[in-house]
Amino acid sequence: MVTKLRQFFGFVYHKNEKTAQEGLLTDVKVVGVARKKTVSKGVHLLLKENVHSICIIGQYGNSVFSTSSFILKKFANWKNWKAQQFLFTDVPDCVEEKTVMKVYGWFGTWNDDLCSLDTVKMVCQKLENVLDDVSDVKLVIEMSSDKYHKYRMELEPFRKLFMNEISLDGCYADEENLQHFKKIQRSCKHKKCPCKRLTFDMLHHGNDRYVGMPLKINIIAKHHDRTLIRNYIENQDILRVMTEHFTALETKENMKEVYEWISYICLKGQFSTSEALDQDLMATWDFGIQKDDFVKNDNLKDFFQLKPSNMETGDLSVYAFWHPFIYICAFHSLFQKDEIRVVESCNIDAIVELVRPEGSNKSYIEVSANAECANRFSERLRRLNLVDKYNAHPLFQCNHIS
Ligand SMILES: [Zn+2]
Repeated sequence: MVTKLRQFFGFVYHKNEKTAQEGLLTDVKVVGVARKKTVSKGVHLLLKENVHSICIIGQYGNSVFSTSSFILKKFANWKNWKAQQFLFTDVPDCVEEKTVMKVYGWFGTWNDDLCSLDTVKMVCQKLENVLDDVSDVKLVIEMSSDKYHKYRMELEPFRKLFMNEISLDGCYADEENLQHFKKIQRSCKHKKCPCKRLTFDMLHHGNDRYVGMPLKINIIAKHHDRTLIRNYIENQDILRVMTEHFTALETKENMKEVYEWISYICLKGQFSTSEALDQDLMATWDFGIQKDDFVKNDNLKDFFQLKPSNMETGDLSVYAFWHPFIYICAFHSLFQKDEIRVVESCNIDAIVELVRPEGSNKSYIEVSANAECANRFSERLRRLNLVDKYNAHPLFQCNHIS
């Protein structure tokens, strides 16, 4: 049987594997010296008898998800244990003996939703209980370094879970990134491509230091568009140029369908081929896409990948942007186009994680909403009976106070 290989959030797995979980754990290859060293360090730490939990932290785009998954896989293979990955909100009360579990997505899928701290604490307590109650269980926590540092005090009571920390920030030697970048430049056969003028220094010292080098280089490799690269040379801001890249697709020849799929999946958060399209959302944004066209359109493969969810059931039909950062760029593009329509129709998670009221501090990946926008969002929360859940969110608070 011909086995088709697909990229899967940095991994390669066989499509005909029984489940994504098994595929994830049998076919991964660790590449790069720095990565191999970090993975090896994590596995050795986890193998120690007195170590029950390790915490992998890193900046956005520093391969945190894939590195922690490699550690999970290597450890499980070494010990012949079961490996399981859980979104932080889906952590079970108990797991089988001889299980190594990874918990990811802390505080939100794309960013901090600002109202999830109580849930985080509850999950930490649950994890402590699992480690206390079940023998032969080990835990890998994966968390972005900005959230880890922001909530350090609040996480202190659960020190047991976080005491064995491995930071990926600064661990990827520049030399390794440089070689990766040069390889991409060499592999580009278009003589007039502006990537020949793009330098490693521009990527390294740009206005986008929030984003890790491995991700920036991957974006240049994957979205190797001349206008995008030219804009990067000019602005040296990966969020800005990717956002503009998405915006330009709407009017680009033969790309309207791609643009609509990107917008639709951004608004929904993800797309399942087993579900019908949301007709209300389609009407709100005047989209003309057809469900069956999704798998037929080759251009969409540049933006989406099968998501590592539903791994218990082996359902591989859920698609998401190939990296959360790419989702954020698509969100910025839509928000710039029509912020009111975004807060009224986009999935709530993305709004609470990425939108902040005008005048408040916002990070590189967040956007500012004006008073009208905050007002419309508050109304939506009331309609959906979500006020109790998000009443501490600044987007609701600013409206409430005024
Ligand atoms: Zn090129």
